[in-house]
Amino acid sequence: MGKVAREVVEKAGIKVEDLIKKLVAAAGAEFTTFYYYTILRVGSIGMEGEGLKEIIEDARIEDRSIYELGGELPRDIRAFADQAGCPDAYLPDSLKGGKSPTGNSLKDLLKVLVEAERCAIRCYSDLCQFTQGKDHRTYAISAAILNEEIEHEAWFSEFIGEGPSGHFRRGKPGASPYVAPFMTADHK
Ligand code: FE
Repeated sequence: MGKVAREVVEKAGIKVEDLIKKLVAAAGAEFTTFYYYTILRVGSIGMEGEGLKEIIEDARIEDRSIYELGGELPRDIRAFADQAGCPDAYLPDSLKGGKSPTGNSLKDLLKVLVEAERCAIRCYSDLCQFTQGKDHRTYAISAAILNEEIEHEAWFSEFIGEGPSGHFRRGKPGASPYVAPFMTADHK
């Protein structure tokens, strides 16, 4: 944050140190989830897994957009991962060894994916509550990310019988329709 940008946010009543902590936790969750989704995507093979692969990839790439939020990131990657705002999205034991997800193991995989998106929704809702009416830029970016996380949740929860998500493929992977207006050409 620039000096004046920080000043106006402080004057509006936000404890900037607390905000930065929340932002670093959110960034940590995005970073670890990006990593874990790489593994989950690789694990999505076979008749039933292939259908999920592209959706996991779309969700994975869109989650990088958090870096726009700023704040200072820890120098140590281990410390960064430890303060992530969401738990590790591990590949389920039932899929270890390159097994194709099907039946119960498919359910295990979807549970990991849906829970990761739900944690992200809670995380960005909290950031929106924290910044609403006080830090307009962080609020706008958090709300944009929240919109995408809600779609990600729906994409996956459709497969656990929670109704249609209206999922259609993004025009191209990583389209990030809500967050894109905040990204400059250099960041794309
Ligand atoms: Fe997501």
